[in-house]
Amino acid sequence: MASLAYAESLIRTIPDYPEPGVGFRDITPLLADAAALRAVIDAMIEPFAGQFDVVAGVEARGFLLAGALATAAEVGLVPIRKAGKLPRPAASVSYALEYGEATIEVHDDVPAGTRMLLVDDVLATGGTLAAAHQLAAALGVVVVGTTVLMELEALGGRAVVGDVHAVFTA
Ligand code: IMP
Repeated sequence: MASLAYAESLIRTIPDYPEPGVGFRDITPLLADAAALRAVIDAMIEPFAGQFDVVAGVEARGFLLAGALATAAEVGLVPIRKAGKLPRPAASVSYALEYGEATIEVHDDVPAGTRMLLVDDVLATGGTLAAAHQLAAALGVVVVGTTVLMELEALGGRAVVGDVHAVFTA
């Protein structure tokens, strides 16, 4: 089993992406390493083990982790998608981005009372995961926790989302 320190060393920062002045955390080298991926998936689950019936992953990078996490935890997966991608009636929440607005949606047939773990790759300003919490509330599910691979502390997302389990902090 790879150590978490080794897994963290595989995350690289790409300067000036997607725009000048932004340092983008690229997790693809970590995803490509089987042992590192397994170590971070286990660490994302650990505080919530046995407490959830389903994971909900946020498009798009959240899907990469949520699929692995659901399989490891032996639970199902609910995709939280960008607007217009889901074929059936969906709950919908819009939220502000630095420039403009985004909308995420989820199918509204998740049974009320389902215990849900919210998953994304990176917590930045918190807008995305705060919107995911609103979607979960609209469904009537019970959010048992929020888990991310990495929190970008300087962007203050924790103050917006509330309690978040982050494997790595930068
Ligand atoms: P927030 O809504 O500002 O918290 O941004 C979080 C969303 O943006 C997540 O869904 C991430 O996938 C994405 N994101 C923001 N910054 C990064 C980064 O440095 N690397 C990878 N994804 C990022």
